Amino acid sequence: MQPTPSLDVNDAGLTAFLANLVRAPSPNPPGNEGLVAELMVTRLAGLGFEITTVEAAPGRPSVVARLAGSGGGPTLLFNGHMDVQPPGRHWSRDPFGATIEGRRLYGQGAMDMKAGLAAVVYAVDSLQRAGQHLAGDIIVAAVADEVCGGHLGTGFLVSEGLVQADMAVVCEPTGDAVRVAHRGALWLEVEITGKSAHGGRPWLGVNAVSKAARIITAIEDELVPSLQDRVHPLLPAPTINIGAIQGGQKFNLVADHAVFQIDRRLMPGEDADAAEAEVSRLCASVRAADGEDWSVNVRNVMHVTPGEVDPDERIVRACRTAHQTVTGKHAAIGATAGFEDAHFLLDAGIPTAMYGPYRRTAPGEDAHYTISGMADEFVDLDDVGRAARIYAHLMIDLLEKPL
Ligand SMILES: [Zn+2]
Repeated sequence: MQPTPSLDVNDAGLTAFLANLVRAPSPNPPGNEGLVAELMVTRLAGLGFEITTVEAAPGRPSVVARLAGSGGGPTLLFNGHMDVQPPGRHWSRDPFGATIEGRRLYGQGAMDMKAGLAAVVYAVDSLQRAGQHLAGDIIVAAVADEVCGGHLGTGFLVSEGLVQADMAVVCEPTGDAVRVAHRGALWLEVEITGKSAHGGRPWLGVNAVSKAARIITAIEDELVPSLQDRVHPLLPAPTINIGAIQGGQKFNLVADHAVFQIDRRLMPGEDADAAEAEVSRLCASVRAADGEDWSVNVRNVMHVTPGEVDPDERIVRACRTAHQTVTGKHAAIGATAGFEDAHFLLDAGIPTAMYGPYRRTAPGEDAHYTISGMADEFVDLDDVGRAARIYAHLMIDLLEKPL
């Protein structure tokens, strides 16, 4: 590879475009990615991309844009989500104002991950300004719904056969690391049905809240410890969080109904059906050991499978090389305990790296941990410009020559 060291990225244009993306609110739920999609379509069409916009549900568009190379090269997909987490209550700025202070641009989703979308667009722009010839095709998939599991975004595109590529980069903020694995998630709702009675004569009823407590205790005392020997070199062991519980009506009635929610995080190699069966078996054993008459039902609300790519895959090595070329620094191999869209692409047989060389956190902190529930999200504009340069080098490295 002989990358052009002096790629000229239009930093002012990049900042203005990112600010426009941030000013198009897309908190999920409900999503409303339409305005962001329009901005992406306009800019990508201006660069010569052929655009397809699809909606998995009304008002939930995803954009698939393809820029054809001269032929004979591989196809490289860049995937980024347009939806953002809902802003927390403690913002000291307008979460959709795109306020710039110094080199920081503040906004909900500025870092996670409208910066990634903007960087990819301006990477292509810089190659065109430099007259760079590419043999391979570039696909940009700007998707809906990632922060709620991605089934209406990347999941839909994959199931409809709309994204076929030889390699992919999910442009999540990963800082100085290239991520090769993410955990999955299984959301279960456990519903207990008992029998109502007056609170003064509780022996006439069966208390569903008490039974829910027994199951939760069994999950914490038996199931959680049993998961600790499932180890991965880059990720924490599987976890279980009881995120919400509801049940009963008032002081003096025996609760005949209770329901609680489980967030079970899955390691690469774990299967959502098997993890659900573990919970169902535990519920059944608590029920069987109890002399009263009640029932328990476990419902799968949503699951996201885990994802993992071989660190020796070409796309991972190319991301690390591009990082080194632009920054002069070594890119680490990393993983995230959160869930991401990469598994949809990996499950479709597309080698996929997670790499967005921009962040708001100090080195070593996990971006998803830090932004969740935190106000005043920002991205460093120097990081975004750097990301555009690195993506441009990646495009040249992988697509310059025919296969
Ligand atoms: Zn994200």
